Amino acid sequence: MEKKQFQAESTRLLDMMINSIYTQKEIFLRELISNASDAIDKIYYKALTDESLVFDKEKYFIKVSVDKENRTLTIRDTGIGMTKDELENHLGVIAKSGSLSFKKENESKDGYNIIGQFGVGFYSAFMVADVVTVISKALGSDSAYKWESSGADGYTIEPWESDFVGTEITLKIKENAEEESYDEYLEEYRLKGIIRKYSDFIRYPIKMDVVQQRPVEGSENEFEEYVEEQNVNSMVPIWRKNKNELTDEDYEQFYTSKHYGFDKPLKHIHISADGAAVYQAILYIPENIPFDYYSKEFEKGLELYANGVLIMNKCADLLPDYFSFVKGMVDSESLSLNISREMLQHDRQLKLIAKNITSKIKSQLQSMLKNEREKYEQFYKAFGRQLKFGIYSDFGTHKDVLQDLIMFYSSKDKALVTLDEYVSRMPEDQKYIYYASGESIERIDKLPQTELVADKGYEILYFTEDIDEFAIKMIMNYKEKEFRSVSSSDLGIEADESDKEADAETEESKELFAYMADQLAGKVTKVKASKRLKSHPVCLSTEGEVTIEMEKILNAMPN
Ligand code: ADP
Ligand code: MG
Repeated sequence: MEKKQFQAESTRLLDMMINSIYTQKEIFLRELISNASDAIDKIYYKALTDESLVFDKEKYFIKVSVDKENRTLTIRDTGIGMTKDELENHLGVIAKSGSLSFKKENESKDGYNIIGQFGVGFYSAFMVADVVTVISKALGSDSAYKWESSGADGYTIEPWESDFVGTEITLKIKENAEEESYDEYLEEYRLKGIIRKYSDFIRYPIKMDVVQQRPVEGSENEFEEYVEEQNVNSMVPIWRKNKNELTDEDYEQFYTSKHYGFDKPLKHIHISADGAAVYQAILYIPENIPFDYYSKEFEKGLELYANGVLIMNKCADLLPDYFSFVKGMVDSESLSLNISREMLQHDRQLKLIAKNITSKIKSQLQSMLKNEREKYEQFYKAFGRQLKFGIYSDFGTHKDVLQDLIMFYSSKDKALVTLDEYVSRMPEDQKYIYYASGESIERIDKLPQTELVADKGYEILYFTEDIDEFAIKMIMNYKEKEFRSVSSSDLGIEADESDKEADAETEESKELFAYMADQLAGKVTKVKASKRLKSHPVCLSTEGEVTIEMEKILNAMPN
């Protein structure tokens, strides 16, 4: 039989798995069960939407069994199965789960983190097994196939006999090594524990044969062993459970098991809505920025379930762009299973849910800002830029939702402040909300333009990101206070006396200033005397709406 080679990237990943020093090897079971569950989802979904298929709930299950003598662990499912092509294409290459692109970006990091942070799926089996055998028969196919691999040297595929549609994966558990024992993966008790820990919410029964004891009939003190098939998981999806029954760890487990991110969630939001839109949702605010977040590759969206059945992996319509960092899932009874992507976009229920979710996220962020300042700042440092983009986008339509959530560093303590905090501590005679734009706080501090404002004891917001000024131009004013750049010609400070003096000086040295303006033609429009400088000899200022920093950005934009 011909031995086929894995694709290059797969071989690298396999290598990492086989030689893994990863301590949480137990997650391989979570990965295989999650694949089994996905496969049943697919057949279940088909049965619900295709009248020619009869759905018999009893038929859908996952079975985990061990054979201690032969050191094998088998996971069998009654899912959709794989054709010969699918066996080759899905098991022979790295799945789209993003692990590879992640690895590319983080080439320098060792494999350790990648395995821990992304479920690498099927390949994780090689952390505990020398040989992995997959026997599968696809729905609607007459023939079954056997795929087998002992790791890096490739795999084989041959026709096989199987009476049932679905997949059976058998792991030949590694022999114990000096520093590591693998026996635990053949222990019923241990396996049950792993299943309950990671896969409790799986909607289909995960069955195991458990050896029990019972008194021998007619005897008082004799016991006999018998095998009982048990359902190991509770099958209640976590989102249907009561919040009070769940711990932070449960939510973290769910986040990891669903591969929502490679970090820990910073915050979870569990919604159970009963109003005009009936739905449950578990949403997460990630701790770190996904590696591709500010790139074209990033796709926002939540998993969408219709009455417990996954119908879409990334439903973008559920999240506004400004909250695109939110991960998680939504399950609604009011959605039809048959709904197409196009129809979904116009679905009134979905729109209602999306609106509802948006306001829930907003209020969660607000309460975080109020009650967990440190956490909020951590969130803001990661995703604040997206909120500011949100204010600028769509002609400022979302500014009401977002303006209370944004923060800037300020000259007071060089700490992050909200607009509300800024305005509430403004001295009475301060007219405007002052800001200064520049590359960094240090550079802004050196700007001559900040002198006059700082001298008056007014606080200055530091705008260090391109988007900052554009965002506040959309807000225009906050609590009736306008924003004013420190380089604006009208700062609303000492308008009377000093300006008059400056005007007089300008008039006196008219010829000098005219000469200077002439020398700088095309660079400045006017040169005049100013009283606003304390320690710097000159500064640039602007008239009108567009500041120097914005001009720089506008000039740098293509067309
Ligand atoms: P992912 O689950 O992220 O796609 P995996 O490596 O876990 O990545 O699985 C790769 C692919 O192999 C799956 O997408 C699926 O198409 C196929 N697959 C794996 N296990 C099964 C199974 N038990 N039944 C049917 N298909 C499976
Ligand atoms: Mg998987």
